[in-house]
Amino acid sequence: MHIDILTVLPELLASPFEHSIMKRAQEKGLLTVQTHALRKWAVNEYGQIDDYQYGGGAGMVMMCEPLANAIEELSKERAYDDIIYLTPDGARLDQKMANSFSLKHNLLLICGHYKGIDERIRQQYVTKEVSIGDYVLSGGELAAAVLVDAIGRLLPGVLGDETSALTDSFQDHLLAPPVYTRPVDFRGHRVPDVLMSGDHKKIEDWRYEQSIQRTKERRPDLLD
Ligand code: SAM
Repeated sequence: MHIDILTVLPELLASPFEHSIMKRAQEKGLLTVQTHALRKWAVNEYGQIDDYQYGGGAGMVMMCEPLANAIEELSKERAYDDIIYLTPDGARLDQKMANSFSLKHNLLLICGHYKGIDERIRQQYVTKEVSIGDYVLSGGELAAAVLVDAIGRLLPGVLGDETSALTDSFQDHLLAPPVYTRPVDFRGHRVPDVLMSGDHKKIEDWRYEQSIQRTKERRPDLLD
């Protein structure tokens, strides 16, 4: 999978993909992430990409021209399955959405700033709008990093154990069961005996029951 990210702050996206699973995904050639500095398509030599909003009011708006030119130029290099604008009024990111994006080949993510991007870009170029939650960030970069991570770890071959992502929370509408590692006894708190029984069927049943119980307690909405 290839993901392009359009941003006014490429520096902010330098680190998130250089570690751990995202790094491994790229080293294995399963994922490529490329950031593009929007100022390359600025309207003048001062690097302008935003302007005052019509109708007045505080906050600048990201202009049509740099975004349209960038999208058109990048689209010549590859056909995007989706052009995604990260925005608080988009569809809320969840595991189902991440699963569905992980089946695509080429994605272009647009990070907004200031008051956001000119509405006409949203209408004419953007195919999906995604929010990472009901709160407002200063820019779309951290949201883009969250989206790439959520998608990237689902790509076949990225996680060491293929089944690991399938047993995480939200797959099958359940939260994940509790997990334990050594020591067996930590200051008087023991690992549940069943996990050391070696009986795989019993362990699977216990984990399933724990998942149900945890989901009932913390996220009953998921069971609906
Ligand atoms: N005026 C916009 C509004 O009220 O909906 C908020 C703009 S916000 C300050 C600047 C940029 O941050 C947005 O264009 C978007 O790209 C990004 N952003 C902020 N919150 C986000 C969220 N919850 N999910 C995804 N992107 C977000």
